Amino acid sequence: SIKKQFDQSVRFFDEELLYVLEKQKYIVDNIDRAIENDEVKVYYQPVFSTETGKLCGFEALSRWIDSKYGFLSPGEFIEVLEKYRLIHKIDVHTVKRICQDIKRLKDLSIPYVPVSVNLSRLDFELCDIANIIETEIKANDIPRHLLHIEITESVLTENTKDLREKIEFFQSQGYEVWMDDFGSGYSSLNVLKDYNFDVLKIDMLFLKDFESNPKSKEIVASIIEMARKLEIDTLVEGVETKEQYDYLKSIGCNKVQGYFLGKPRPFDKKLISFIAKNADSSAARIKQIVPP
Ligand code: C2E
Ligand code: MG
Ligand code: MG
Ligand code: MG
Repeated sequence: SIKKQFDQSVRFFDEELLYVLEKQKYIVDNIDRAIENDEVKVYYQPVFSTETGKLCGFEALSRWIDSKYGFLSPGEFIEVLEKYRLIHKIDVHTVKRICQDIKRLKDLSIPYVPVSVNLSRLDFELCDIANIIETEIKANDIPRHLLHIEITESVLTENTKDLREKIEFFQSQGYEVWMDDFGSGYSSLNVLKDYNFDVLKIDMLFLKDFESNPKSKEIVASIIEMARKLEIDTLVEGVETKEQYDYLKSIGCNKVQGYFLGKPRPFDKKLISFIAKNADSSAARIKQIVPP
C-alpha cells in the first residue's frame, strides 16, 4: 500500500540522516586523534604544463583513512570541520606534511616541484596560518616559490580588506596565490579586479558537458583569453580525456590537472620515482627570489 511505502521511505530517510549525523559527530570528535595517529594523509595530484608537456607541480589533497568508516574524502569532512571551526587542524597538518615531503625530495636530490595547498578562509581566523607556513618553510629550508596557496573563489565574495591584505602579504613574501574553482561562484569577475592572482584554476564544471554543449567550450576559451589579457596564468581542472587536453592546449590554457594526467596519490616510492622521471626542474619558475 501507499501508506506502507511511505512509512518505509520515511524510515529509510531517518536512517540515512542518522547515519550522516553520526558520521559528522564522529569526524568532529575524532579529528585530533586521527591527525595524531597519522590517519589523515596528504595525497598529491600532478599538474602538467601544456607548454612543455611535463609535470610542473602537484596539488595536495587530504584523505582520512579511518578504522571505522574506511576511506573518507574531503567531501565528507571539510564542510563539517568548517562548520565546527576545526578546519585549521587539517590545514596546519597538511602544510607541515607538504614541507616534510618537499624536504625529502630535496634530500634525495630530486628536482623540486611546487605544491599547492588548499586553505580555507577560516584558517585565517582560527590560527595564524601565514606564520605557521613561514615556520614550516624555514624549518625545512624550502624556497617560498615552491608553495602555492589555493583560495577558493567563494571565500572571496565578501571582499574584506583584511583577507586581501593577507593574500598580498603572502605574495610579497614570494608565495604564489592561486584562485580555485573559478566560475563556480557568484562574483568571479569582481574578484579578478581586486586581487592579483598568479594562477586562475577554472572549475571542472565546464568540462562536464564539454562534448555535448558547445557553449561550455566557448566559455572556457573566453575565460582563458580574458586571463591572458590580465596576465594571469590559467589551469583547467578535471581534465579526463585526450580531446579535452588537446582543446585546452590549443586555446592557450597554461596548465592542466585531472584523471587524464594522473589521480591523487600518496607520497610513496612510486610517486617519488614518478617525480624523478617527469619533473621539469624549470617548473619551479622563480618569479621573485626571497630567501627563506
Ligand atoms: P579542489 O581544490 O577544487 O580539488 C579538486 C578536486 O577534484 C579534488 O577532489 C580532486 O580529487 C578532484 N579531481 C581531480 N581531477 C579530477 C578529474 O579528472 N575528474 C573528477 N571527477 N575529479 C577530479 P577532492 O580531493 O575530493 O577534494 C574536494 C575539495 O575539497 C577540493 O576541491 C578542496 O576544495 C577541498 N580540499 C581538499 N583537501 C583539502 C585540504 O587539505 N584543506 C582544505 N581546506 N580543503 C581541502
Ligand atoms: Mg584546490
Ligand atoms: Mg578546484
Ligand atoms: Mg573544487
